[in-house]
Amino acid sequence: MATLADFLKRHTLWAGFAAVLAPLLVMLGLQFVWLSRLEQVSAIAHKATLNNYLEGVGTEVEYFYRSTAERALNIPAAYLTRGRLEEVANHWKKKPVEGVRSLFLVDYTRERFGNFHVYDPESGTLVSPPASEEALAIIVACTPWQMLSYRGGSAASPGLSVDERNPEYRIILNPITDDAWHVVGVAGMILDEPYFRKELLPAAIRKALPDFFSNAGTNDLVVTVRDARGRLMVSTHDDPGGGPAAVSRLPFVFRDWTLGLHSPRSTPEQWARANFTFNVTLSALLAIALVSGIALALRAANRAMMLSEMKSDFVSNVSHELRTPLSSIRVFAELLRLGRAPSPEKVQAYGEYIEAESRRLSRLIDNILDFSRIESGRKTYRFGPTDLLEVIAATLKTFEVRLKPSGFRIAFEGPAAPLPLVTIDADAIGQALHNLLDNAVKYSGASRDIRVRAARDQEGVVISVQDHGIGIPKEHQSKLFEAFYRVDSSHTASIPGTGLGLTIVKAIIEHHGGRCWFESEVGKGTTFFLLIPARLEIKRGEPGSEIGSMA
Ligand code: ADP
Repeated sequence: MATLADFLKRHTLWAGFAAVLAPLLVMLGLQFVWLSRLEQVSAIAHKATLNNYLEGVGTEVEYFYRSTAERALNIPAAYLTRGRLEEVANHWKKKPVEGVRSLFLVDYTRERFGNFHVYDPESGTLVSPPASEEALAIIVACTPWQMLSYRGGSAASPGLSVDERNPEYRIILNPITDDAWHVVGVAGMILDEPYFRKELLPAAIRKALPDFFSNAGTNDLVVTVRDARGRLMVSTHDDPGGGPAAVSRLPFVFRDWTLGLHSPRSTPEQWARANFTFNVTLSALLAIALVSGIALALRAANRAMMLSEMKSDFVSNVSHELRTPLSSIRVFAELLRLGRAPSPEKVQAYGEYIEAESRRLSRLIDNILDFSRIESGRKTYRFGPTDLLEVIAATLKTFEVRLKPSGFRIAFEGPAAPLPLVTIDADAIGQALHNLLDNAVKYSGASRDIRVRAARDQEGVVISVQDHGIGIPKEHQSKLFEAFYRVDSSHTASIPGTGLGLTIVKAIIEHHGGRCWFESEVGKGTTFFLLIPARLEIKRGEPGSEIGSMA
């Protein structure tokens, strides 16, 4: 129970992340299924739109010819029965029509085979047609009506009819019937093919486009019209080649012509697939952005949780760290006050203990204050020409008193050649070295050997502090310099510390433009390195170099 609660407590954030991720994945899965269905449906819908469009063009053409025919060919039967054919000519003269090559009238009231008249637009009168192909086409087209009239049959609500047997002469006919529905004549018109091809069709194609497609889509579409022999008669762009995405026939006249709709860039299926891919990619990108956002937020929350845990550990660690030297100071001070020091040497020894412990307290407080200054960017450094060996020697000296009773030996190996002066903050570097020595002592375990070296290489002066202590496990190494971070193990549990020492070392060294790193092996020991960069060295003759010569 306790372990489960503990597990949940430690993994709350990840449990929350999983709680968000699971529905997100389900949603993505569902969306994928919907989108694939939509892909199929939209391909069909797109194809239907293309077909509807072509039908729309056909309807437009049909409407034009029907309305033209109705206007021109609705001739009252009385004009024929009463012999007032000039009225028909007047009607055509007053209301000229477009798209028509010629208008004609056949009168069955006087002649059983019919009197054929063709309208002459120049004179505005009806004339007899000369023997020609055209006349033949008219006669052939009118034959069924002539038969009906000849037999005296009636044509109830006859309406317009079309004769396209001769593609050169496409004729729309309208039978003229009397009150008893007997056919008394036929009015007709021969269509003007060039007008249809050059004006009517392109206009119909253009007019129907916006009703079916958005503006952006129309640039992709090519409409072609081919005649019965497959010759390209009209095309909105250059011959697109390839098969059309949709095909349709014209419904009323020019029924042997084929309308084709090409979309050169994509077929409806490709279009639907492209849409599908776009939508799926978009969803995936949005999901990635969402998951990354949540992961970042969780990471930040995780860090904040860890930090707050570390801070509370820190408070108890600091109290512990303060209590130890304070109780030593109290004990030795009491001994002195009660005159329990048997000899002047003991008095001196007690005094030294009290001094060393109070120094330790001051350093602890300095570390805490320094950390707070570093964190808030308020720490000030006083750079000056400094002999690094002197700083090392002074720091080692302060350690001697403390280490004397515990049997520690600190060996110092100096550089082969004298070191040049460097421009550093001596106190800060001393403090960094002090922190490293302090750790070496604290984490030495049973070993009592500490080795401090100072050596010069191309990068600068490297100071190292080596111990043969407990070492640092690999999994902790990457976080060692983080604030409040302490290795949590059975070896370190009883060792007091705040987790700030190395953070301060790193901040100080980096402020000097240097680096700090370490090599460590569990059970064998650790060596920390500080690099004081070569650019801080003062060359001979530069201002400040004479102090070195004086020293
Ligand atoms: P602390 O006050 O805990 O010593 P530091 O920042 O100085 O804080 O060190 C962080 C942690 O790094 C320590 O808690 C310790 O576990 C580990 N550490 C530092 N120096 C050494 C060392 N020389 N040997 C082994 N572990 C070390």
